[in-house]
Amino acid sequence: MRMAQGLPDEMLMNSALIKKLAEEAKDSAVTQGVLMRLQETPNSSEVVSFAPFTLFPTPVPKAVFSQALAVQTHYNTLVDKISQDADFLQEALASTIAVDDFTARLFKIHQQILKEGRSQSIVLGLNRSDYMLDQRENDTPSLKQIEINTIAASFGGLSSRTPDVHRHILKMAGKLEESERILDNNPAAGLARAIAKAWELYGSEKAVVAFFVEDVQRNIFDQRFVEYELWKRVVLFTNMPCFRNIHVIRLRFEDVFKAGSLDQDKRLFVDGKEVAVVYFRNGYMPDNYTSEQSWDARLLMERSRAVKCPDISTHLAGTKKVQQVLARPGVLERFFPDQPQAVQQIRATFAGLYTLDMGPEGDKTVSMALAAPERFVLKPQREGGGNNIYGSEICQVLEEVKESTERTAYILMDKIHPTPVRNYLMRQGSPLKISNCLSELGVFGAYVRQGKDMVTNECVGHLLRTKSSEHSDGGVAAGVAVLDNPLLF
Ligand code: ADP
Ligand code: MG
Ligand code: MG
Repeated sequence: MRMAQGLPDEMLMNSALIKKLAEEAKDSAVTQGVLMRLQETPNSSEVVSFAPFTLFPTPVPKAVFSQALAVQTHYNTLVDKISQDADFLQEALASTIAVDDFTARLFKIHQQILKEGRSQSIVLGLNRSDYMLDQRENDTPSLKQIEINTIAASFGGLSSRTPDVHRHILKMAGKLEESERILDNNPAAGLARAIAKAWELYGSEKAVVAFFVEDVQRNIFDQRFVEYELWKRVVLFTNMPCFRNIHVIRLRFEDVFKAGSLDQDKRLFVDGKEVAVVYFRNGYMPDNYTSEQSWDARLLMERSRAVKCPDISTHLAGTKKVQQVLARPGVLERFFPDQPQAVQQIRATFAGLYTLDMGPEGDKTVSMALAAPERFVLKPQREGGGNNIYGSEICQVLEEVKESTERTAYILMDKIHPTPVRNYLMRQGSPLKISNCLSELGVFGAYVRQGKDMVTNECVGHLLRTKSSEHSDGGVAAGVAVLDNPLLF
């Protein structure tokens, strides 16, 4: 198999060259800051290593790449509109929250906020829409959305540093022309720009931006790149007038439930510091909430006047159930009544998505899945990789739940089939071996809204992740996928 429009087989099979390039690549990655803490010492930077990445970039057709970038601002708008449509969220998630405890708890917070009234009209959204290329036989590849992540979407930092690694490797391999086809990419700067805008609109020069992070912080460098972009900025406060920079702190659940409080205006204070923006890089899965105090902390932040990224409604807008409901006829039109072009662009990226709600339609989904499980992916309402169900396991699970409302915790989706490409996955401590790989393209979106006014709405960069085709599921943090770059053709 050749890399389509990419690097020749002779090169991929030249083991002396590959070995040399691999050593070069590790040095380049470390030098560029493509780093991760070690699994054994996830909270220490004393000894660190390179974050996993591919030795070579992966060919991606220009047309689909541009299509993914072009639809991103519409996806930003869509997520934002869903977050403001309480009736839609209620209806879309009703069957799910009846059986899925985690989604139900998030929804309860969302309802409480609606009841109390939102205390902040500034909304900051940082999301990542992920795609695979469906590529059967000799057909032209078609861009299909896997999911959209509205909370804690990662790798905007490290993916800002990987282009130079691949450029260097291609040059070392004598592939100058290819090296020039690696695009610049700087999601870190774009994400930080939106965070800074939200901070500015919040309007209190002493208030900080809080990165809300996990207890285990292996992927800290990815976040640091965004953080340092914020520290770099100097803002002129016209009403003072004085120059300020944006201070960033890192908070964990424990910090918030031990030292967090709201003042009479619902301003959030943690350890005496006013928080203007909470940027969630934690809180996206049940395991993150280790105690009732964690839920109390989430509620406290949601009730506060701090700008939440995302707020609870935007978090819910990113669930797989909402994704499935959006694919039903007429639903996108509800959010874009006068924009058929936006509807068409978004819908073109939808794969087949099927309800498992109780009733004839859900029954049909069950029989369809049981008849040909290899054609589908069964998805629960979870994030972080490794939760989906494939192949014969789909039958096992569905046989168990098909008669009960428990089935409504899942959605069914067409399985996307990208063409495998051969590459080397560089992982700390793993031997070098060639793998058949599948890639997933992510596009970062950033927006800030104040009341009804969309202040900024941007596509701020991309991420290519690649995994061995042996694995059907799992991201970089889950130890399955690795960082990559598109080589456009
Ligand atoms: P998560 O929120 O856990 O990342 P995803 O929907 O992104 O959930 O699924 C995790 C992984 O499973 C994806 O990165 C991809 O590798 C694989 N996957 C998900 N949906 C599909 C699909 N429809 N076709 C093929 N692979 C899929
Ligand atoms: Mg996800
Ligand atoms: Mg995913």
